[in-house]
Amino acid sequence: MTATKIDSASGVAIPTTAILELTYKCNHKCKFCSCPWEATAEGHTKYEKGSEMTFEEWKRALDILASMGVKNISISGGEALMCEHLLPILDYIRSRDMFNRGGRIVIISNGLLMNDDYLKAFKKYDVHLSMSLPGIESFKYHTGVDNAKGVLYWFERAKKIGLHTTVNVTVTKQNYHELFTTLAMGLISGADTILLNRFLPGGRGLTYIDDLMLDSEQLQGMLDIAEDVLIHSNKVGAVGTEFPKCVINDYERYKRLRVGTMCSAAKEFFVVDPSGIIRTCNHSPRKVGHIFSDPIIFDAEYWNIFQNRAYIPTECTSCSDLSYCDCGCREAACIAKGNVCALDPCIDKVNIKK
Ligand code: SF4
Ligand code: SF4
Ligand code: SF4
Repeated sequence: MTATKIDSASGVAIPTTAILELTYKCNHKCKFCSCPWEATAEGHTKYEKGSEMTFEEWKRALDILASMGVKNISISGGEALMCEHLLPILDYIRSRDMFNRGGRIVIISNGLLMNDDYLKAFKKYDVHLSMSLPGIESFKYHTGVDNAKGVLYWFERAKKIGLHTTVNVTVTKQNYHELFTTLAMGLISGADTILLNRFLPGGRGLTYIDDLMLDSEQLQGMLDIAEDVLIHSNKVGAVGTEFPKCVINDYERYKRLRVGTMCSAAKEFFVVDPSGIIRTCNHSPRKVGHIFSDPIIFDAEYWNIFQNRAYIPTECTSCSDLSYCDCGCREAACIAKGNVCALDPCIDKVNIKK
């Protein structure tokens, strides 16, 4: 576990990476969006938005994170570029000693507001930029906006100034047919690496489960396609949404694609929302703390389910791979089935190991 400091008030360990959701606002309307405040599907509790933090509050939050041993920052939203404090926050992070000692900053953006000034600023602050490309033909279907060419253009511009980038694809039933092309075009345009996320129920995506959820053949296929693209391009990549290991036919065959099978929520990273609320994962709708509360984690019981891996489905308890597998996404299981110990929603039709 990559957690350095115990929050003495709650007794929980705090991971060394924090995801800062700078704003609830977004200029896309992705059908797969897992932001919990976008969930409107019936039967799911509404995630109440708070007041977005001011720049002064973000500085205070960053001071607290630094004092808790956080070293790496990922910035998302909503759309990070819609937050007016984005560049001052980057400046503040890099001016802090704690974050300067090898700390990594990643920005996740949909690219719609990208411009050369942002790219130059990201280069100056040594940021890694991850841009979303959920298909080429199907980009507009997924996001409501026609901007695949724009995203590819900004990968080219980023490459020209030596900014490191990732092409980030949420794989759905509707863009599966063009996954090879999408990944290849992202890399040809200049992205250094790929990040695949399989569609998971959550946020706005709860309304589109039947349209977007991959079947087990497509889950396997997305890994094979990504590995092929990486072999052809001589690059490496990763899957961001962990897989149940038994969904994968031959785990060892992926040499260039890193396929995670262990949930890292509350162990490797945690999330601070635009109002300071803390969650275990960006996928999670559960509010477990607040950056200005004392202790910062007020729902230690839920946090510790993740930290102590106390979420293993009963179907998995005698599996020989249990030390390497958390049975896929625990938050998606909780959202879809109301129980953090339920099977991952993608696994229902797969014969799991005993
Ligand atoms: S997935 Fe990202 S870009 Fe798409 S609507 Fe959600 S926050 Fe916006
Ligand atoms: S049975 Fe459960 S623990 Fe074993 S590989 Fe499958 S999902 Fe993972
Ligand atoms: S809850 Fe765990 S498995 Fe699911 S997306 Fe978050 S880190 Fe990954």
